[in-house]
Amino acid sequence: MKSLDMKGPFSLESKDVDDQVDKKSAGNYALGIKNKKGNFIPRYVGRSDTNVNARIKNHIDSEYPLFKFSYAESSKEAFKKECKNYHDFVKSLDNDIHPDRPNGKDWKCPDCKKFS
Ligand SMILES: [Zn+2]
Repeated sequence: MKSLDMKGPFSLESKDVDDQVDKKSAGNYALGIKNKKGNFIPRYVGRSDTNVNARIKNHIDSEYPLFKFSYAESSKEAFKKECKNYHDFVKSLDNDIHPDRPNGKDWKCPDCKKFS
């Protein structure tokens, strides 16, 4: 089964983000909802190359009530995980476009030929 491999879900509120994401770090996140069975359904995936806490907070008051997250060892690791999350869950996501690379990087998506 495909997995986001993230902690949560937690409530998408400032206090919960600060309580849970207490490290300033690169990382990944998913925003979403719970279905009737209580399973988390990702609706949007993203990453931050520097501070995933701040990036998640940019989405407070969006249409999504819940978030999940994970830390990343590096921005490259965050990029690769975001690509994987995007491809694994593309059917339920509102993301309009494929994850982008930071400026100046020639990293490739592990799952498709977009950057090859
Ligand atoms: Zn791809």
